[in-house]
Amino acid sequence: MEAGKRMDEHETCGHHGHAHDAHGPARTADLVARAERLAQDLGLQFTALRRRTLEVVAEEGRPLGAYDIAERLSVPGKRVAAVSVYRALDFLTEHGLVHRIASRNAFVPCEHGHGAGESAVFLICRSCGSVDETISDEIERSLDRTLAEAGFKPASRIVEIEGECGACQGRSEAG
Ligand SMILES: [Zn+2]
Ligand SMILES: [Zn+2]
Repeated sequence: MEAGKRMDEHETCGHHGHAHDAHGPARTADLVARAERLAQDLGLQFTALRRRTLEVVAEEGRPLGAYDIAERLSVPGKRVAAVSVYRALDFLTEHGLVHRIASRNAFVPCEHGHGAGESAVFLICRSCGSVDETISDEIERSLDRTLAEAGFKPASRIVEIEGECGACQGRSEAG
């Protein structure tokens, strides 16, 4: 349905080495709107907990674990259980609104409008903890080929690369 539009979004966001300027309330509103549309299209419920979980993940500048999210959603006298947050996160990851960083067991908001079955590459900085999501058609294609040759059915198509981001390299060179 919206395949054409999604491709446009990939192209206009300058996915290679883009700055972290998309963080904050605007992006949160975009993600919530995307989630609402998606839930409506699929006839699913976008519950208050799912919405608040998405908001917390979107507003955070770094990957967040389920227990941290539960902590933030809890108010005095009303604790939100991590197991409920995990269920909300299942929904959000399944529909490509957030991604799980396996090496951190933590969650980040999707920075691209891509669908659940598409692959994403995460560049994870060990120094500052920043996580940059990029998309590569070449990796997508070669991953397809590799999976087909291996006869392997992937549960997710996430590639994680740890190292040092450009900003941190600049800092260590400067001083
Ligand atoms: Zn994504
Ligand atoms: Zn860094």
